[in-house]
Amino acid sequence: MPIAPLNGNLDLEQSLDCDVLIVGGGPAGLACAAQLPTHFSCLVVHQDAEIGKPVRTSGGSWVADLQTLGVPDHLYQVIDEIEIRSDNQRSLHQMQRHKMAVLDITGTYQWLADLAHAAGADIRTGAKFLSTVVKGDTQVSQVRFKGEGTRTVRSKYLIDASGTPRAVLSALDLGKRAERVGVGIEYEYEIEEAPMNRAVLFVGQPVLKGYGWIFPAPNNHLRIGVGVIQPDTDISPRDIMEPLLTPAFLDSYGLRLGKRIAVNAGIIPSEPYDPRLVFDRVIRVGDSANIATPTVGEGIRLAIEMGRDLGQRLCDVKDQGSPAPLALYQRRWRKRFMLQYLFGFWANRKISRYGVAQWDKSIARVARMSESQLAALIRCELPLNRMLSAAWAQLKARVCAWFS
Ligand SMILES: Cc1cc2nc3c(=O)[nH]c(=O)nc-3n(C[C@H](O)[C@H](O)[C@H](O)COP(=O)(O)OP(=O)(O)OC[C@H]3O[C@@H](n4cnc5c(N)ncnc54)[C@H](O)[C@@H]3O)c2cc1C
Repeated sequence: MPIAPLNGNLDLEQSLDCDVLIVGGGPAGLACAAQLPTHFSCLVVHQDAEIGKPVRTSGGSWVADLQTLGVPDHLYQVIDEIEIRSDNQRSLHQMQRHKMAVLDITGTYQWLADLAHAAGADIRTGAKFLSTVVKGDTQVSQVRFKGEGTRTVRSKYLIDASGTPRAVLSALDLGKRAERVGVGIEYEYEIEEAPMNRAVLFVGQPVLKGYGWIFPAPNNHLRIGVGVIQPDTDISPRDIMEPLLTPAFLDSYGLRLGKRIAVNAGIIPSEPYDPRLVFDRVIRVGDSANIATPTVGEGIRLAIEMGRDLGQRLCDVKDQGSPAPLALYQRRWRKRFMLQYLFGFWANRKISRYGVAQWDKSIARVARMSESQLAALIRCELPLNRMLSAAWAQLKARVCAWFS
C-alpha cells in the first residue's frame, strides 16, 4: 500500500503514515531527522514531555568536533585544562590543541530539534513507542500519544534512536537491553567560585568501579557527578555523591558552590560496540548500538555524527532505489568503532577491577602523557601501535604468571 505523506495533524480516526518513524528525540534521532530532506515525511516520537529535559548526561565534548558539527558556540563552555586525580596522584594537562567543551544539553538538543523541524520533521513529545510488526514493506507501529491514546503509525523505515532501552529492537526481539551499564548521577550548581576553564576527572577510593567529574558548564554553572559500572558494583552513584561533597573536597578543587539547581541522572550501555545496525527496514543509531566511548562514556558528538550519516544514507536509498547505502552505513561505523572499542572495552574491564594503588600508578603514567596522547586516550582513538604494545605487555604478564 502506498504511504501517504504525514500531514502534521493527528487525526484520531486514521493511522499516521510516514517515510521514516524515528523513536527517540535524543541527539542521534534528531540529527537523523534533520538530515532528511523536506520531501521525506518523518515523524520523531519522544517519550519525555520536552526535548532535552530531563537531562540524563553531563555534556563533556570537544571544541573541534562541535565546530565541525556546527554547534553554536554559546551552547558550550570551553575548557583548556584537564586535571585527573587519584587518591595520591594528580596530573594536570594544558589542552591548547585539543580543547574540551561542556555542552548546555537542553539548549543543544533543542537546537537539534529546531534543525529537524526546519527540515520538515514532525516531532511529537509525550509520545512513547510501544510495539511494531512488519507488513510487507511497511512497519506498522503502535505509539501512545499523551492525552490522545494509542495510534498506529505506518512507516517505510523505523529507526531505533531510543538509547539504552533499545525500544524497537527489544520489541522485535532483535536485541536485549544491555546487562552491563554505566549509571551516573550529577548535581548542577550555580557557581560562586571555580576555575571555569578546568575539567576534573577523579578516580580511586571515592568511586572505585567508575569515575567522578567536575565540569564547568555554560551560564556560570558547575556539574559534579559520579558514574559506576553495574553490575561490577552494586553501590548506587547517589550513595557515593552525598558523602563526597564535603567542604574539604570542595576546597581541594577551589570550589565555592551556590544554589543547587538540578539533579541529573542517566544510564548508558557499557558493552562492546554492536556492529549490526541494519535489520532490513529497522535501523539503529546512537546509544542503542553502544556507541559511547568505553573509556569515559562520551557519546553525544558521535550520536550526532552517526545520526546525520544515517539520514544521508536514507536519502541515498530513496534516490538510488537500492538498500546498498545502508550496508555502507553499517560498514562505515563498524570500521570506525570495532577495533578501538574492542581494545577500549578490554581496558574498561581491566580498570574496573583497579584498587587505590593501581589507580595511583595509572595516574602517574597519565601525568607523563602529552596533550595529544591524553586526548586520544579519553576519546578512545588509540594508535594501533599503542594498542598492540599494551596487548603484548598483557600477554607477557600472563605468560610470566603462568610459568611462575
Ligand atoms: C551519566 C551519564 C553521563 C554522560 N556523560 C557524557 C558526556 O559527558 N559527554 C558525552 O558526549 N556523552 C555522555 N554520556 C553519553 C551520552 O549521553 C549518550 O551517548 C548520548 O545521549 C546518546 O544519544 P542517543 O540519541 O543515542 O540516546 P539518548 O540521548 O538516550 O536519547 C534517546 C531518547 O529516546 C527516548 N526514548 C527511549 N525509549 C523511548 C520510547 N519507547 N518511545 C519514545 N522515546 C523513547 C528517551 O527518553 C531518550 O531521551 C553520558 C551518559 C550518561 C548516562
